[in-house]
Amino acid sequence: MPFVYLLFVLALTLVVFPVRRADIKNIHSTIVTSEERSLIGRMPTNSDQVAIWIDIKEFPDPLPRLIIEAEDRNFYYHIGFDPLAVYSSLVSHLFSDGRRGGASTITMQLSRILHPEWKKYPVLIRKGLEISNAIQIEFWLNKEEILESYINLVPIHSNAKGFPLASLRYFKKNIRFLSMEESVAFIILMRNPNPSYETFSKRYIKLYESFTKQTFYDHSLLREIYDAIFKAKGENIYALSEEEGHYLQWIKHQYPNQTETFESSLSKEMQSHLLSILNSELQTLKRWNVSNASLIVLSLSPEEKNIVQLKAMIGSKNFWDENEGMVNGSLSYRDAGSTIKPLLYASAIERNLVQIHTIVPDEKMTFSLGGGASYVPRNSDLKYWGELSLAESLSNSRNIPAVSVVNQYGMENFLNTLREFGFTHLRQSPDFYGPGIALGTGGASLFQLTRAYASFPMRGVLPKVFLGKADGQPIYFGETKRMFGEDTAEEIESVLSNAKLRTRAFGRRSYLDFPFPVALKTGTSKDYRNSWTIAWNESFVVGVWVGNFSGDKTMQVSGSFGAGRIVQNVFRYLVQIKPSQNIPSKFTDLINFCKESGALASEDCPKMSLLYSKRKKKPDICKLHRKENFKITHMNFIYPQDGQTFLYHPNDAMMTQMIPVKIRNWSKIPDTDVYWNEKVVKQIPSSGEFRIPIERGDHQLSIRTGEKILDRVVITVK
Ligand SMILES: [Zn+2]
Repeated sequence: MPFVYLLFVLALTLVVFPVRRADIKNIHSTIVTSEERSLIGRMPTNSDQVAIWIDIKEFPDPLPRLIIEAEDRNFYYHIGFDPLAVYSSLVSHLFSDGRRGGASTITMQLSRILHPEWKKYPVLIRKGLEISNAIQIEFWLNKEEILESYINLVPIHSNAKGFPLASLRYFKKNIRFLSMEESVAFIILMRNPNPSYETFSKRYIKLYESFTKQTFYDHSLLREIYDAIFKAKGENIYALSEEEGHYLQWIKHQYPNQTETFESSLSKEMQSHLLSILNSELQTLKRWNVSNASLIVLSLSPEEKNIVQLKAMIGSKNFWDENEGMVNGSLSYRDAGSTIKPLLYASAIERNLVQIHTIVPDEKMTFSLGGGASYVPRNSDLKYWGELSLAESLSNSRNIPAVSVVNQYGMENFLNTLREFGFTHLRQSPDFYGPGIALGTGGASLFQLTRAYASFPMRGVLPKVFLGKADGQPIYFGETKRMFGEDTAEEIESVLSNAKLRTRAFGRRSYLDFPFPVALKTGTSKDYRNSWTIAWNESFVVGVWVGNFSGDKTMQVSGSFGAGRIVQNVFRYLVQIKPSQNIPSKFTDLINFCKESGALASEDCPKMSLLYSKRKKKPDICKLHRKENFKITHMNFIYPQDGQTFLYHPNDAMMTQMIPVKIRNWSKIPDTDVYWNEKVVKQIPSSGEFRIPIERGDHQLSIRTGEKILDRVVITVK
């Protein structure tokens, strides 16, 4: 009577608690799709064991048959367990040394995989649970569904769960293309995940011969298969194709939450197209000792203010590469070279320390680092161009003006600005980085740089990056923050999209010239180890790095030559998706400035046309080139300029904070004096260059001959 009652309870349990294929399938990983709604891959949820789920119809022909033959010959005829096998296993458990016999059916093994928590029970109880659960599974699922779940979930080797994943990880191929020989190897590993080569080959030959009824002879193939599995570099791979491997790893790291779906913003079509551009350009760059590259594409949408979308993330040329593939180059910190300058100048303009037309010195300068050490910045061409406008020094990427601006800005202040731009890895003190921070020595990742540059097309707003929706909820990277004004953004953008302005450094025709509007900045780090180009228009921001993961030098590959050629191709592809248009300026007007004095151009001045803020006061008209002055030698201040602001930093060494002064034609007119706040400055060298110590307040510098004032500037030290 109790037995009948027990059966009744069992039958009731079976019916009340269904086992669904969808549940088995989904609890194990998050489905990640692309913008086009195609499957990119799966991410693990609760454990590091990852499943990629492949439909049984897609398994290669002999695989299911081989598994049944090796694991459970009666699979199609039992109801979840094999009474005879269980009986004999019970006997051997009770009367021998307790070693487990081959009593587990595929269904019972599946039950064990689905319930890892049962491991803690004594073996007899566990077996009982497995058997009843196996019966339940058989009641709700058909044999095909059971087999499909099993093949997708069975642990094979070192965190690789399921045949589809193991196939991707060890043989770099979709399960559909798994060979008979490779399938046999996995079947061995299901029982013994870490066999020696000897054990492996013995069992292999035995299984192979029993499956095929043929003699196995290809021992070199066997060795190859063994090595492919046991020499594989660790880590989880769960992307369906190589383009998205790095992306999935990163997303998993960013969002470890368990969700069923992650609809990413990534475009699969764009990813695969860009990867092929990258690889074909790398073929050419090989000759210059360049071995790898990374790429980021962010897209702007007119509807969503303050947000950009991550459209492409390519970490390296080949995700499966044995040595370097796993490194996501778009997230590595590298010497950022000149890519930092636009961020520096935009922030300095925003603080009124300089203006886009300000004349800055590009001359030999020494900056004291304290303790007797000093820093002498150099330009990449090892030349000094003399005085030039901020606009030209930005577009021609002069180093010394950048160092002198960061000096005005203050190291501590600029480090904080960079941290606000998202360079959160800059945790050291200003002394650690030194003034070289203006030249990228603090390092940056391609992803950070590309996002920071998005502040230009976003008109001063550092955007948060939309990555996708997890179970319908939007997921962002970072926070939105206004970094500088709309007018400043337009000023910098117009300089960096002006091919004419950069001719002096980059030549007339280069990879940086486009037949449509694109603004860009290149960067090259010391010894040509890193070549960068970040470019944007109103719809996309593209960042490209090329170099070597090993840190080896390239053969003089600059940012414009290496990364520039890839950006050129990438943008030509992107404008096919969204044409690039000239955006009319809203916050600035086109103004003619004098190239030499930085003042408003007169008719006789060498001119440069720059966008200049509507809200700022225009400078006076150029005195240097006015006709009446032509006959006499003109003497005036090249720098500082009238109205310029300097910041005083109590923590920095006094020496680094002297204000550089340069006078045009000094010593050409006799009996002239320079006054610093009504006090004569003594011993001015014949070059007309000197420095004055910094003091807070408004100061006046003037050049006088007798009672006549030849030039006068007022500067402010804050
Ligand atoms: Zn002029």
